[in-house]
Amino acid sequence: LNRRLTEFGTTIFAEMSALAVSTGSINLGQGFPDTDGPEDVREAAVRALRDGRGNQYPPGPGVPELRAAIAVHQERRYGLAYDPDTEVLVTAGATEAIAAALLALLEPGDEVVALEPYYDSYAACIAMAGGRRVPVTLRPSEGGFRLDLDELRDAVTDRTRLLLINTPHNPTGTVLTREELRTIAELAVERDLLVVTDEVYEHLVFDEAEHVPLATFPGMRERTVTIGSAGKTFSFTGWKVGWVTAAPGLVAAVRSAKQFLTYVASGPFQYAVAEALALPDSYFDAFRADMLAKRDLLSAGLTDAGFRVFRPAGTYFVTTDIRPLGESDGFAFCRALPERAGVVAIPNAVFYDHQEAGAPYVRFAFCKRTEVLADATERLRKAFT
Ligand code: PMP
Ligand code: GLN
Repeated sequence: LNRRLTEFGTTIFAEMSALAVSTGSINLGQGFPDTDGPEDVREAAVRALRDGRGNQYPPGPGVPELRAAIAVHQERRYGLAYDPDTEVLVTAGATEAIAAALLALLEPGDEVVALEPYYDSYAACIAMAGGRRVPVTLRPSEGGFRLDLDELRDAVTDRTRLLLINTPHNPTGTVLTREELRTIAELAVERDLLVVTDEVYEHLVFDEAEHVPLATFPGMRERTVTIGSAGKTFSFTGWKVGWVTAAPGLVAAVRSAKQFLTYVASGPFQYAVAEALALPDSYFDAFRADMLAKRDLLSAGLTDAGFRVFRPAGTYFVTTDIRPLGESDGFAFCRALPERAGVVAIPNAVFYDHQEAGAPYVRFAFCKRTEVLADATERLRKAFT
């Protein structure tokens, strides 16, 4: 393994999901739903398979039906008009979109300013692209983990090529506010930076929180690569259908890298996701309401068990502080948790460069059936009280 990748080892999600299986624990670690997405959408995939749509290599940019549906979705929800032929690219999940964007846009030595904690593939992809990551740490406060905009500003240097943003944010559940996003946008324009923004949890925002795409701010449409995923929005993480929307030059750049990663992927599923994106608002509302109830159930259960809970404004993850339990090392805690309680969680430290800043935090996923969450919280309560 080369020096760029040795520091990354095996992804925490594989390690923890294997631990869940080997110990028979409830897996609240890796974020994948335990209920598949809509029946009609599965039927659409079956129809595509039967009708021979997508069984051979689909077009490089994605099938036209899906590119059109993505463009309509961005226009309908956010008023962002993208040309499906030149400004939309279908990828093998958001994971490939992130990789291809970074590989396409970074020169060796370029700095990438990213929010810390960051989704684990960001660091590895920046490294594969020969870039340098410059993390800006979200700080815990009463209201959750917040971005210090002065720290963000200070992190930008002459070597900064791009900002890598994620909202709603995995693992903290933070949703950047309109004011915060406006400041990020102004900074990007002022310093002439590109922005890659991972918005895969765009449909999972709760209470008063609102998802505002960075591309909607003045001067941003032409410098922003926006990433979405059917895995998250329609609960089909195994289908690996994601997408990028951006200005033609940026999409062409990302496509240049993408064509040599997977070339194309998920043919029949692309047709099904095109139908999914056209579902009425009631689908998205019900999805959000379901996750909101689950958030509240898991948050209450974790609080009962003695964790300090940072109630997420978005995503399907809740970050907790384990210090009220007399613990301080999230790694050790998560490695012992299956034996101790029969539950698997993720130590947030894996998402940090500043290990000490992330050490006491542990993430639980709530995209699970109600009875599974009830069972898990009961196990945790028994183990810790
Ligand atoms: N970005 C974030 C923030 C995620 O949480 C995930 C999924 N865990 C991804 C990207 C990857 O998405 P996909 O499964 O579509 O590759
Ligand atoms: N995005 C999911 C999470 O954060 C996991 C994806 C993966 O396993 N690569 O849990």
